[in-house]
Amino acid sequence: VPRSKTTPKDEKPQRRTVRLTHPDRVYWPDEGVTKEGLADYYTEVWRYIAPHIVGRPLALLRAPSGIDGQTFFQKHAWKGINANIVEVQDPAEKDDEPYVAINDLDGLLGLVQSATLEIHPWGSTLADWERPDRIIMDLDPGDGVDWPAIIEAAEETRKRLETAGLNAFVKTSGGKGLHVVAPLKPSAQWPAVKAFCKGIADAMAKDSPDKYVSTITKSKRSGKILIDYLRNQRGMTAVAPYSTRARRGAAVSMPLAWNELSPDIGPAYFTVENTPTRLQALDADPWAEFKAAAEPLKAAKGKAKG
Ligand code: ATP
Ligand code: MN
Ligand code: MN
Repeated sequence: VPRSKTTPKDEKPQRRTVRLTHPDRVYWPDEGVTKEGLADYYTEVWRYIAPHIVGRPLALLRAPSGIDGQTFFQKHAWKGINANIVEVQDPAEKDDEPYVAINDLDGLLGLVQSATLEIHPWGSTLADWERPDRIIMDLDPGDGVDWPAIIEAAEETRKRLETAGLNAFVKTSGGKGLHVVAPLKPSAQWPAVKAFCKGIADAMAKDSPDKYVSTITKSKRSGKILIDYLRNQRGMTAVAPYSTRARRGAAVSMPLAWNELSPDIGPAYFTVENTPTRLQALDADPWAEFKAAAEPLKAAKGKAKG
């Protein structure tokens, strides 16, 4: 069911309750994308990005002077934090500094006001910090790996996840690779989820040692793809679907339908500039069924062989 049709395409949320200081500050100089432009982008994609960033701990890549200036990868709240951003306490680390979270579009615009150029959520929610609701297999190509090989790696990862009883979705990273994401019904805790993901990465490296590696130490080897399963640990993060990247080109991490993976698009093909057009042209959000497709990892017991 093309769920995006249930909301009229011209129905856009209103913003402007959050005050932006320096709205003309340029964040991506080559594209001329400003802070105000970033706020407009996130307002546009709000209903798509919301399920992936609301109600979970967030790490933020902040860049007050734009992508060419100093950047900060921030896991915790800071002094004078925007009032629309929520501070949350890790229930397992009561003495730790609070994390940041958002509840609504004002929260997202609070992140923009704070010069957040990348949003990196946890794989679990504030409702259940210990039981992830998604797996993210991060496919990191070494030097010399071509795009068709990255697509092939994503297809193989998908097959292995499906063999294990899960459903798999794909997105561009907005950088160099692809992310294969499987929604989970929260049941297994972090250590079991990590072990499962390691099993898939190790099996891929074992079955195709010429194509894949599963350990960072071997990841420098050119011509191979690192199957980075280490996003799937408590406290680790990966860039959110629809998040911008603090890199040249103003690319975003874009959810795709599997049949959109083709030579026509690369990992940084979708950008702040062309995403609104894409979303308006889509018949259906390619990830419309993401939440409904969640399965518990216990159904995935046993092998991760493809
Ligand atoms: P690419 O396709 O280029 O690999 P990516 O988003 O997958 O893009 P990675 O380098 O594979 O990039 O993943 C980095 C991950 O590590 C991010 O998703 C982020 O959550 C996490 N991370 C930890 N520390 C940092 C940091 N200092 N800066 C950026 N990311 C960080
Ligand atoms: Mn990556
Ligand atoms: Mn990685």
